[in-house]
Amino acid sequence: MPSKVYFSPAGATNWAESLIAKAKELFYLAELDKCIKPGDTVAIKVHVGEWNRTAVLRPEYVACIVEEVKKCGGKPFVTDSTTLTYHAFNSRFDEIGILKSAYRHGFNPNSLGCPVVPADGYIGHDDVRVEIPNGIILKETYVGRAIACADAVLNIAHAKGHPITSFGGCIKNFGIGGQSKRGKYTTHLAMWGDPADAIGYPLVNAQNCAGTGCKWHKLCEDGCPESAITISEKGFKLDFGKCRLCYSCQVTCLFTGETAIGFRDDYFPYAQIAMSDAARGVLNLFAPEKVGYMAYVVDVAPECDCFPWAGLPIVPDIGILASKDIVAIDTAAVDLIDAAPNYPGSRAEELGLKPGDDKFKAVNLVTPRIQLRAAERLGMGSMQYELEKVEPVLTPENIGKHQYLQEPSTLTLRKWYKKGGHVLDGVLPFKRIPFEQRNWQEFA
Ligand code: SF4
Ligand code: SF4
Repeated sequence: MPSKVYFSPAGATNWAESLIAKAKELFYLAELDKCIKPGDTVAIKVHVGEWNRTAVLRPEYVACIVEEVKKCGGKPFVTDSTTLTYHAFNSRFDEIGILKSAYRHGFNPNSLGCPVVPADGYIGHDDVRVEIPNGIILKETYVGRAIACADAVLNIAHAKGHPITSFGGCIKNFGIGGQSKRGKYTTHLAMWGDPADAIGYPLVNAQNCAGTGCKWHKLCEDGCPESAITISEKGFKLDFGKCRLCYSCQVTCLFTGETAIGFRDDYFPYAQIAMSDAARGVLNLFAPEKVGYMAYVVDVAPECDCFPWAGLPIVPDIGILASKDIVAIDTAAVDLIDAAPNYPGSRAEELGLKPGDDKFKAVNLVTPRIQLRAAERLGMGSMQYELEKVEPVLTPENIGKHQYLQEPSTLTLRKWYKKGGHVLDGVLPFKRIPFEQRNWQEFA
């Protein structure tokens, strides 16, 4: 049986077609309300985005779901986890940084209508160990405690690319975003194998390093949280015994245009599989009926929201998806992106991609379907889905359904004006002045 995925396209010409109104409708059509019993604590997992990232979810996309969770009697909180360092200037490595980044992007209690709670504590050490008996690579992972302890969880993803996992949707929102720091080290395969041949460790091309002759060498040395890197005139030395695979040195070297530290080519597909394992770990904490998914396929940048910048989206905004199946919703997002035309000036256009091409494979070099197939093998859901397109029709009954007030605000003003003190009292009737006919076409 294919899984049901509900889809509302982006774009609107009236109240009922607002993406917010559509999100609220999809929440019920996909039966995400059934995840919540009155009194349940509901973790709403989002990616709050890196400092200076400009393609993250708009807070209203999440606030509208918070409102519905409350109507269901749930006690929602919005959550995200701390990062590894990833690069030397990462903002979200601790609780203060994650909150400041969240607030800067507009995710705060005032805008959302609920608390914002870092999932894994002050420096990412507060977690719950989870076994993954059927894991393909990983057999355990560590989930942020705030997520693990919730009664229900809603995974609200931003669909976008990722240079390591190719695509980031709902699977990544759990498989990386739901993990504490040690969960992330595990998911990144730092613990897998022996340092001499471990696939997760930095791939060193020492001959490409000019040592202290490299203008980035100070940053390179300072960028390792484990002090595993020493730079000298002869080049650099990496102490694999100290390395925990935080990505900081690879990113510093690669993103500054150097080529001395990188990854094995086969790291990328394995990283996707491990990410699906770790997402399985999150699901192992919940009964299936307590987990629901939404994905905003808008601002589909080629890289992840963990980047401190945003490339042009690769496709125009597509819309919003909702489902009870994590594999189906991510498969639908990837398929819709592949089917879409290129966004002008984007990397997809530079590459000359056509509708139907595997866009993330072209942009990020590995097909994102690896994570989908792995997740399917892990019993997390199905890549077979039935897409039900939902295009609300404006009616007198639904016109105000999702507005700030459900009855016309004009009626409220009418009531207040009747009480007196109206700004126009004493001014009306307006003193009319003759209207001189002018030729507006002079300005056209
Ligand atoms: S950034 Fe790369 S090339 Fe420069 S010092 Fe570090 S490892 Fe060497
Ligand atoms: S050596 Fe290891 S711990 Fe240090 S910056 Fe590189 S990946 Fe991170």
